[in-house]
Amino acid sequence: MKNEPISNAQPTQPFVAGMMMQQPLLISSLLVHAERHHADQEVVSRRVEGDIHRYTYKDLATRARRMANALAGFGVQSGQRVATLAWNGYRHMELYYAASGSGAVLHTLNPRLHPDQVVYIADHAEDQVLFFDMTFLPLVEAIASRVKTIKTFVAMTDRVHMPAQTKIPNLLCYEELVEASSDRFDWPTFDENTASSLCYTSGTTGNPKGVLYSHRSTLLHTFAIALPDALNCSARDTILPVVPMFHVNAWGLPYAACMMGSKLVFPGSGLDGKSLFELFETERVTMSAGVPTVWQGLLAYVEANDLKFSTMRRTVIGGSACPPAMMRAFQERYDVQVIHAWGMTEMSPVGTAAILKGKHLDLPAEARMAVQSTQGRAVYGVDMKIVGENGEALPWDGKVSGELLVRGPWIIQNYFKNEGGDPLVVDEQGHGWFPTGDVATIDADGYMHITDRSKDVIKSGGEWIGSIDLENIAMAHPKVAMAACIAALHAKWDERPLLIVVKKPGQDLTREEMLSFFEGRIAKWWTPDDVVFVDAIPLGATGKMLKNRLREQYGNHLLAKA
Ligand code: AMP
Repeated sequence: MKNEPISNAQPTQPFVAGMMMQQPLLISSLLVHAERHHADQEVVSRRVEGDIHRYTYKDLATRARRMANALAGFGVQSGQRVATLAWNGYRHMELYYAASGSGAVLHTLNPRLHPDQVVYIADHAEDQVLFFDMTFLPLVEAIASRVKTIKTFVAMTDRVHMPAQTKIPNLLCYEELVEASSDRFDWPTFDENTASSLCYTSGTTGNPKGVLYSHRSTLLHTFAIALPDALNCSARDTILPVVPMFHVNAWGLPYAACMMGSKLVFPGSGLDGKSLFELFETERVTMSAGVPTVWQGLLAYVEANDLKFSTMRRTVIGGSACPPAMMRAFQERYDVQVIHAWGMTEMSPVGTAAILKGKHLDLPAEARMAVQSTQGRAVYGVDMKIVGENGEALPWDGKVSGELLVRGPWIIQNYFKNEGGDPLVVDEQGHGWFPTGDVATIDADGYMHITDRSKDVIKSGGEWIGSIDLENIAMAHPKVAMAACIAALHAKWDERPLLIVVKKPGQDLTREEMLSFFEGRIAKWWTPDDVVFVDAIPLGATGKMLKNRLREQYGNHLLAKA
């Protein structure tokens, strides 16, 4: 803990306690509330088997209790990690509540990572049990004998769809566990600061780091995102989270839906435009959330087939900047309001949302678009500031840009196992601030606009690619003297890796030879899109590569080639 005053009261002042109930904020209470007040509300899922599954919050709660008993049966202790490799679906939702609700920690692994990284993360987290969708059977088979702490593997399917043969020892079947377990389970009461879920982020340099949320941080974040000037969720909504449940808890929607009693629609693995559009229409979805790349696919499908959304009212777009053309298409052509939002894994994730104020409503369309195109203003609970090179606070004039720092009750204090050391910057009052690595302006109304990024990472279709990992691989090539990897703008994926290489003297190295060197060493989609050979890479005073200079020079390289 930092030396933070709990309140401004002087220690000598008498302490008068408020006389209200002490009730810890626990994730299980969301499910209890949903079952009691919205028992018949639907949860609809497209399963990996291809069919549509539907049941109610009552069924969800009953089965979550059964799974909590199953976890107890595995010997999972309070605080131990229960891992998932799964799409958005009802079984994943059951685990969200079964694991966290019973005092264990839900650890959502990202299946898009290279198997080596999945093994690293599972070992680092000391996962005890792994639940996985059948789509990921090959991945689990590849890692099962390598992971050190996972003792139990569970396929999230029924007996009929279990693999006839597998290399995974003693593979268990999810539906058999549900059937065999009692639906009587009293959710335990414990300290609200207890860890609830764990998400690793590669959005920093070095190895992926874990962000360990608590019940309290999750509940406060849920209250905040459900508000009208944030994601605006209600019992009248049908929410389809496209953002994966392995990405910062699908931006908190699985919790907000229970809090508000919204109908939930889970798309499973069908994230293409056609599959999504079908679900939007058949389930009468009113609201959705996802990264720009997904919406590109959906818009292309809707446009090509001359379709309209009949019930969709708004969509949250974040994870990467929403291109203005996309915002225009949704709002002007399809009458779907875009909520441009910004956040980070380290922030649970929501920090800001670009919602208009009353004074904006009568502005001309273009001026309103300009407000909506910013990353938005802070939701209550998130404090932010921009600072200059010496840490001095910069003015909120919408012009001056500086590094964006944040603080609040659902923002990280330290990475899991204190990996990477204390991340916070302490101000003169002794308050800790988390440096986001984003560079931004903030205007007088509090609208924040990201202008650049100081962290050396590439965000492709909403997923991180570590530039340092790519550089290390490139540097291992015998013909390479120096290599830098930068984020180059890309029409479809927002950003893609571009490799800039200085060859060793007298060496002949082609683009193809360089790129083939990445095969097998990283996930295929991490492979740089192109290689630029240069004579020298600019270096700063301390010998560090000046990647911002390279970004200025080559940032549009892939757009120019397209
Ligand atoms: P993650 O931890 O994967 O959620 O990534 C967080 C980072 O994604 C932020 O620090 C930003 O660099 C970027 N990001 C998230 N939302 C936006 C947005 N709306 N506009 C621009 N960048 C964004």
